[in-house]
Amino acid sequence: MQSSDPLCNILYVDLTRKRFRVEQRQDLFDRYLGGAGVAAQLLLQSCPEGCDPLGPDNPIVFAVGPLTGLFPLASKTVAMFKSPHTGNLGESHCGGRSAIAIRMAGYGAIVIEGRSEIPVYLAIHGREVHFRDASTLWGMSSSLTAGHIIREREPGSGLRTIMRIGLAGEKMVTYSCVAAETYRHFGRLGLGAVFGSKNLKAIVVSGKRSLPVADNRAYRSVYKGIHQAATSSEVMKKYHDLGTAQNVLPLNKLSGFPTRNLLETKFEAAQEISGEAYAEKYLGRRLACSHCPVACIHIAALREPHEAEPYFYKTSMISYDYEPIYAMGSMLGVGDPEGLLRLLDRAEVLGLDLMTTGPVLSWATEAQEKGLISKKDTGGLSLSWGDWKTYLEATQRIVEQPNDFFAALARGVDHASSIYGGEEFALALGGNEMPGYHTGPAAHVGCLMGARHSHLDNAGYSVDQKVLIKGELSPEALGDALLEEESWRQILSSIVICFFAREIYDVDTVLDCLKAAGFDLDAERLLQIGRDIHREKFRFKMREGFTFEGLRIPERILKTTAPATGLSEEYIRAALDHVRKALI
Ligand code: SF4
Repeated sequence: MQSSDPLCNILYVDLTRKRFRVEQRQDLFDRYLGGAGVAAQLLLQSCPEGCDPLGPDNPIVFAVGPLTGLFPLASKTVAMFKSPHTGNLGESHCGGRSAIAIRMAGYGAIVIEGRSEIPVYLAIHGREVHFRDASTLWGMSSSLTAGHIIREREPGSGLRTIMRIGLAGEKMVTYSCVAAETYRHFGRLGLGAVFGSKNLKAIVVSGKRSLPVADNRAYRSVYKGIHQAATSSEVMKKYHDLGTAQNVLPLNKLSGFPTRNLLETKFEAAQEISGEAYAEKYLGRRLACSHCPVACIHIAALREPHEAEPYFYKTSMISYDYEPIYAMGSMLGVGDPEGLLRLLDRAEVLGLDLMTTGPVLSWATEAQEKGLISKKDTGGLSLSWGDWKTYLEATQRIVEQPNDFFAALARGVDHASSIYGGEEFALALGGNEMPGYHTGPAAHVGCLMGARHSHLDNAGYSVDQKVLIKGELSPEALGDALLEEESWRQILSSIVICFFAREIYDVDTVLDCLKAAGFDLDAERLLQIGRDIHREKFRFKMREGFTFEGLRIPERILKTTAPATGLSEEYIRAALDHVRKALI
């Protein structure tokens, strides 16, 4: 890659002193490509060991990759920070316009340091960086309103990204998110709380650069092949037609759909909250991240009558996906499709990560059923499966934190259960609340061993589904399969491709794309880069106190039968031990 490529530019912003500077780091991009690889290095360099994740020393790193703006579905931005939720690696990916805007503004990465004394939002327009007073936006009940106001004030319409937090981030709920363009999120591990701790309400980025390619003819040919695959494959068509909500019915049929805090794995109302039902009755529009021909983002239109006025209606546009449907639907026993949409909307307006909020509320419901918490703790609320109206109020209270109990819930189930009990049904893996897959051992081992404790790290649920067809794996073979997938995903998240396109971007295609972008690599070198990045992430985790031995295995995942058998503590520990030896 050429040193003049703006991808090598790293913008450092100091919120304390209201200063900024740009550094050229071609070395980082040459060695780690971009995205997750470069972000991990910037985090290792900028984050002091043992720092408070909600203190001024914790940096926020955003990074994009060499394919951003050049190829279809290279649409994601990687955020890295020390997570206030787990205390180690915070990594979250988001699409919308975020990636293209950062690259078009002339940067490969942005590092935000320090803490502003007053609420601000950052406006980054190409080489200009402005620190705008956001005092009037702070404390607004809806994150959407803050977004509307910034939209009116800032230039760059159609090109810019607006990344912002809601009340949950301001109140530093450790699983608050950052929303970009309303319907996309840096969802997991508490980036919203890190924004809040810095008095940073939002970041607007825009720019209008053009991007160089090394060989125009080769570029066009590779582009055409990828575009063709993205618009003609059956898998992508399903993402377009139904979105990720297509997974509800197959997982329910398989008995792998976590229901009522994983007391069950089949939900009697799965049909009502399925992707098919939402598409038929509520679908209002589909959207796409920039430079994506798939458009998997599904938005429901929910028309609600005005309380006092006849013939007056309010229509809310609410995005839905498989994970939010699982977390706030089946996990809470909510089978009323409109009630579920209202829950999704409330969490969106407040700026909470839905995937965490659901398992937090399902733990609280079971804890109340079992008498571990009382109505005194809940401020008079009786949490019960399916009662979405009470869950609406509980969601609000998690953010407002009116007493010790809700303040504990605002830090997740590991923390709340350490105070009130019920650890055996507190469904967090590596400190991060479980995703919507109870398919077998690989789903849970995958989350426990994953660098960000996410199902996206290594897709264990799909290994379970292969095991169902081909037969059981030894713990070592399972660990190896997950390690191989996770190290390959470091490449995808460094060039920063949407994981939905992982079947299209195989090794040869990635090499062709990188060549057009100015990188001359072979397959062996590429795979080695993936393994190196994976190890570097663990270097950060271990430095911040993570240990494989310290991982808690919730008893509930062992007791509730999964489709792929073999789930036992002994099996999981053996697989984790194998992974530890391979990584460290
Ligand atoms: S497939 Fe969906 S999430 Fe991925 S880039 Fe396209 S619109 Fe965004």
